[in-house]
Amino acid sequence: MRILVTGGAGFIGSHLIDRLMEQGHDVLCLDNFYTGHKRNIEKWFDSPYFELIRHDITEPIRLEVDQVYHLACPASPIHYQFNPVKTIKTNVLGTLYMLGLAKRVKARLLLASTSEVYGDPDVHPQPEEYRGNVNCTGLRACYDEGKRVAETLAFEYHREHKVDIRIARIFNTYGPRMLKNDGRVVSNFIVQALERKPLTVYGDGSQTRSFCYVSDLVEGLIGLMNNDYIGPINLGNPGEYSILELANIIRRMINPDMKLVYKDLPQDDPRKRQPDITKASIYLGWEPRISLREGLELTIRDFQQRVY
Ligand code: NAD
Ligand code: UDP
Repeated sequence: MRILVTGGAGFIGSHLIDRLMEQGHDVLCLDNFYTGHKRNIEKWFDSPYFELIRHDITEPIRLEVDQVYHLACPASPIHYQFNPVKTIKTNVLGTLYMLGLAKRVKARLLLASTSEVYGDPDVHPQPEEYRGNVNCTGLRACYDEGKRVAETLAFEYHREHKVDIRIARIFNTYGPRMLKNDGRVVSNFIVQALERKPLTVYGDGSQTRSFCYVSDLVEGLIGLMNNDYIGPINLGNPGEYSILELANIIRRMINPDMKLVYKDLPQDDPRKRQPDITKASIYLGWEPRISLREGLELTIRDFQQRVY
């Protein structure tokens, strides 16, 4: 199949491309390199089945493909809040143009949505039926409301134009190739411990997250794309940890003497987050396999080899 991956030079997108190339597909990677990097995909540059397109999805583009994995959008708060209006354009205009492309060539489109659509949840763990608790004027709204509109657009293109859609709600994912300056918690703690700097815990560290290793997530995305169930469907690892627990695990793995330093909790930071993955298990037969410890070992090794 010819498969387009928007945001393919980014963290999740490049791991997804590795799997699709290994499966023998013809892959088009589209990226504007805002947070993505050519080195993430350079191993495919010599392949006749791989094509790299530098393009910003806030502008339309005409391509002929069978499937679209639509991932283009910065995912880390520091990156999506750097230019919030641009983040909204990427989510709204970008998704609109990609759905238009899918409609024109009758391609199936998978939208990479997010657990952020649940906001600061008052239902725990979060099932797909939960409608969320999002602050539409807050600092995270450019991203979480942007993704909510992206989901709405996908459903309206499906109902009105019969576009074949799939919607994945991705929960916190980590692994090799995260940027050193990514700003998300796993990469921050690993980089800080490797650089012998105190680990920055925001708030009192009692807020929770559930961390999914990237290869598990990629299997879930491919499983959803090639399944009849359209979603939205949660993809994440239900193992829930407080940020303080995570800091302790990482410093024990790298440098147990490292201190913690407490910083202000960012505005609207969700108190807790854990996916209910019953639907993914029933419809896709999917569940994550890599434990936090295993995944962290692989991620730490990658940072050691790549950055230090
Ligand atoms: P990332 O920042 O590494 O990747 C995003 C990619 O999109 C980058 O390569 C970036 O250059 C590209 N991009 C951004 N804006 C673009 C634009 N206007 N035009 C073209 N390319 C553009 O992030 P990631 O962690 O790989 O996330 C990928 C997708 O998964 C995103 O849509 C994100 O919202 C979603 N997601 C990720 C997580 C996570 O924990 N990593 C959680 C929930 C959802
Ligand atoms: N966090 C932290 N220290 C950091 C980076 C993040 O304590 O150096 C906290 C952050 O406040 C949040 C959690 O870790 O409660 C996860 O943050 P991240 O940015 O990774 O993801 P998100 O908040 O989008 O789930």
